[in-house]
Amino acid sequence: MSINDNLKKLYSSIDNYIKLVAVSKTKSNEQIMEAYQSGQKIFGENKVQDLVTKYSALPKDIDWHMIGHLQRNKVKYIANFIKLIHSVDNFKLLKEINRQAKKNNLTIDCLLQIKIASEETKFGLSIDQVKSILKSEEFKTLKNISIIGLMGMASFTNNEEILKKEFTYLNDFFKNLRLIYPNITVLSMGMSYDYKLAIQHGSNMIRVGSLIFGERN
Ligand SMILES: *Cc1c(COP(=O)(O)O)cnc(C)c1O
Repeated sequence: MSINDNLKKLYSSIDNYIKLVAVSKTKSNEQIMEAYQSGQKIFGENKVQDLVTKYSALPKDIDWHMIGHLQRNKVKYIANFIKLIHSVDNFKLLKEINRQAKKNNLTIDCLLQIKIASEETKFGLSIDQVKSILKSEEFKTLKNISIIGLMGMASFTNNEEILKKEFTYLNDFFKNLRLIYPNITVLSMGMSYDYKLAIQHGSNMIRVGSLIFGERN
């Protein structure tokens, strides 16, 4: 199956309201262009350096999303072009994104990454941490970022009960926040192996790599 075939199959399996982020990490510009020519305009990367080189080489109407752990000292390299940062996992990082966005005279859309998996290695904020960030006076002074939603990565398992529990946990919090903060509209959850389950549990943005581009090495 070609990248084009994979994409067409994926598009036909999801409703129109679902945003598809094609995760192109480790993939070449040629592979990304094949997806682009099939109509895909949103791509996700997990490394700042790759975002910078791919952004400069590829068409300017691509929306680039940062989906991986982001170090504060690297925000400056992507601030002028990044469309959405999925992986805000601490307040200091958010303040740095705001600072760099201000320098570039723009507003950067962000998602707060919530830790939903039990594995120790996964980054993310707790629900209590999110609540205290959103309530803080300092947060209200950040005029150059916009929190438009939440992101979560479920455990690496094919145990559906565990996945359902983690997705439900995040979706419940998302629904609560939406009532208070009308800007919060995006729920980024679901990858190649669990996107269908994620959508059943409220996801409206999925991040899919290997199902489109093939397995990574
Ligand atoms: C790599 C990655 C994905 C995509 O994973 P696939 O299993 O290839 O679909 C999604 N989200 C994040 C944060 C990733 O790092």
